[in-house]
Amino acid sequence: DTVTRFAPSPTGFLHIGGARTALFNWLYARHNGGKFLLRIEDTDRARSTPEATEAILDGMRWLGLDWDGDAISQFGNRDRHQAVAEDMVARGTAYRCYATKEEIDAFREAAKAEGRPPLFRSPWRDADPATAPDAPYVVRLKAPRDGETVIRDRVQGDVTFRNETLDDLILLRSDGTPTYLLAVVVDDHDMGVTHVIRGDDHLTNAARQALIYAGNGWDVPEFAHIPLIHGPDGAKLSKRHGALGVDAYRDMGYPAEAMRNYLARLGWSHGDDEFFTTEQAIGWFDLAQVGKSPARFDFKKLENLSGQHIRAMANDRLLAEVEDFIAVQNNPPLTDTQRALFLSAMDGLKERSKTFPELLEMAHFFLGERPFVPDAKAAAILDPVSRGMLNRLTSRLRDASWSAENLQAVTRDFAEGENLKLGKVAQPLRAALTGRTVSPSVFEVMELIGRDETLARLEDSAV
Ligand code: GLU
Repeated sequence: DTVTRFAPSPTGFLHIGGARTALFNWLYARHNGGKFLLRIEDTDRARSTPEATEAILDGMRWLGLDWDGDAISQFGNRDRHQAVAEDMVARGTAYRCYATKEEIDAFREAAKAEGRPPLFRSPWRDADPATAPDAPYVVRLKAPRDGETVIRDRVQGDVTFRNETLDDLILLRSDGTPTYLLAVVVDDHDMGVTHVIRGDDHLTNAARQALIYAGNGWDVPEFAHIPLIHGPDGAKLSKRHGALGVDAYRDMGYPAEAMRNYLARLGWSHGDDEFFTTEQAIGWFDLAQVGKSPARFDFKKLENLSGQHIRAMANDRLLAEVEDFIAVQNNPPLTDTQRALFLSAMDGLKERSKTFPELLEMAHFFLGERPFVPDAKAAAILDPVSRGMLNRLTSRLRDASWSAENLQAVTRDFAEGENLKLGKVAQPLRAALTGRTVSPSVFEVMELIGRDETLARLEDSAV
């Protein structure tokens, strides 16, 4: 059975690359009906913080990447890591190394002077344990010096490492704490992880980890090292490009589903499909379609997908997401009246919005309150001539029957009488009623806010 995992180090927020790694592991597990586990790699006590862990869990919850079971703390497994290292010493696949820092430095200096690779070759590798001093030691892997280690990577293909280039890496430090390489292997083994999907910056680690698996007589999991995300210019992704925490994307008002769609497309493809639901992604996801070249981050594409997801969402669900967004922004919750207005207006609102803030801006005509102070563009439209024209229209509207359809007919009739195109009347009307130059159809706006409110706003702008 498939078991994947996401193993972030809690030293900062959940950045976009980490979120993509988590998503791929989640999709792979869900596609195969397997398990997706979460392990917090908090062995670096100086750099790990509970706040960072919380931020990562929060980001994953927002993205809907639910993990199976409890999140595991790697630090909590330290006794087991130690036991495995000592067990490897007993098996003869690891050894205690008493070399001091000075000895190691001297070895490296000499190697450099003689033009040899600076890989430390410990004299304790083959020493008689009986000669061991009563002194601090590290535990090192007894790595093979001949032959090759091949990683059969599901994305990169077969990647071969000559063993002479891999050193006797440290498994346990002199204070008994495990190194990252040991901890990852032991935990992945103990958690029954079958597939390790992660950034290709870990490819060399995979070779070193394969030797630790071998040293314990364990099978290596399947590896899939995915290319890192680059900026639109092809350079390594930086803050300027969008290397932000996923919380920043939530604050920008992208729906989680759009974010999942976008992140899935960063390195994976399904034919020419750009827009898809998460259900579809789960149905389609496989490692065979993960590309070998770095994906490029592109804000325009994200915006575009976001607009498509907003339009495709059922109105009640969209409203629920908008309300979540309002809560995350610490803004006051909607009133029942506003919620009802939202649902009636939603078709018109979502047609013109790519993000939640745009949708809220589009809803300004019923979320805001009189007087509707026009923004600069709307103010420019409301010149004295337009205001005069609106006064004449107002008297026609006073006893019109109040439906969008009829209001449009009345306004069209009025425009003809004034020798104006409908737009020349509708635009000032919109500016007066909404204080904006973009809104849903102005006749729908009027129907929605009702006769009294419409006339009151028109009177406000008549002065
Ligand atoms: N903690 C590692 C990282 O955040 C994860 C390594 C792995 O997935 O094996 O880069």
